[in-house]
Amino acid sequence: MRSVLLGFAGFAMVSCARCEPNNLEPVLRAELSVPGSSTSTSCIPGQRRVFRGNLHGHTGHSDGQGTPSEAFAYARNAAKLDFLAVTDHLEQLYDWKGAPSDELENCEQAARSASEPGAFLALCGFEYGTGYRFLRSTGHNNVYFNRGLFPRIQTDFRQFYATLAACEECIGQFNHPARESDVQDWNDYEYHEDAARQMSLFEMSGGADTWSELFRVLDAGWHVGPAFGQDNHEKDWGTKNEGRTGVLLQNLTLPELREALSARRTFASWDRNASISLHSEDGCPMGSILKGRATVTLRASAEDPDPTDRIESLSLHGNRGTLVAKRICERAGACVLSATVQVGKGVYVLARATQRDGDILVSAPIWVEP
Ligand SMILES: [Zn+2]
Ligand SMILES: [Zn+2]
Repeated sequence: MRSVLLGFAGFAMVSCARCEPNNLEPVLRAELSVPGSSTSTSCIPGQRRVFRGNLHGHTGHSDGQGTPSEAFAYARNAAKLDFLAVTDHLEQLYDWKGAPSDELENCEQAARSASEPGAFLALCGFEYGTGYRFLRSTGHNNVYFNRGLFPRIQTDFRQFYATLAACEECIGQFNHPARESDVQDWNDYEYHEDAARQMSLFEMSGGADTWSELFRVLDAGWHVGPAFGQDNHEKDWGTKNEGRTGVLLQNLTLPELREALSARRTFASWDRNASISLHSEDGCPMGSILKGRATVTLRASAEDPDPTDRIESLSLHGNRGTLVAKRICERAGACVLSATVQVGKGVYVLARATQRDGDILVSAPIWVEP
């Protein structure tokens, strides 16, 4: 891996034509933990572009409106999304006798005809929500790239994790944390090693104080990247608001999207077309788990092409939300920030940008392990 990295010359993952030179030093440097020693890394450098979509929407197959075909056509043509996942409620994808209905198959057929690699990707997942503690839901989870349905009712989220762990290709997401009650935290984000590979996304939208919740889930040991899901229940897939999940891909194909979600190359944005990225100085993108370096220099950038939508500030945050570095961007269209961090067990750093209108963007973390 090391030789691959040394041979890698450029690491611009988003178009940097408008980026400003990094002529300001970060105002703060932080040493997050003790140095490490071994020599390995687990990142895949490369030139990638930002694609934006919505990974959470319902149709008339559960408590939303319309059909998956309508949803995909609307997301592509009206909302101009690059991808949409229809994620109807799992228990409603069963018929009255308790057998799987033909709705998932119907959705998958619609997705196959709506997908056009390079232009638009359609996928069908489902939303699990039957984990209960004292008859209250412990949290909802979206599942993507599933083959068939999970059991209709699994009353404990640990059963859900076990089913997810058995699904090699599946991607799991924590949905709208702490939205309906304070028990919607999967028992304080109880960590399950067996499901950790699949659970790679954390929805920053629709919940309560998701900025704080993000650090709770990360500090519990989960390796997740942020997502913005619109959770549509009307025919507004992609236009309910301006929020987007950004994903870094070389090509807009389903296998690449699955790989990128699994590798957490994501950001959550409250803005329609702004972007944020974080990478190491040798080109490892956000979501990477880096190992075997004493220190790692990270570079964050944020930009918005709209002249009226400026970047107010850009900051780096580590475990428990600790501020690592911050730059006031003086309402530039683009802003960059670098900081050097010391590695340590469980240490991670992520980037956050705040725009003049209050919109925020949050990048996936980079973990820097001994
Ligand atoms: Zn939900
Ligand atoms: Zn939902």
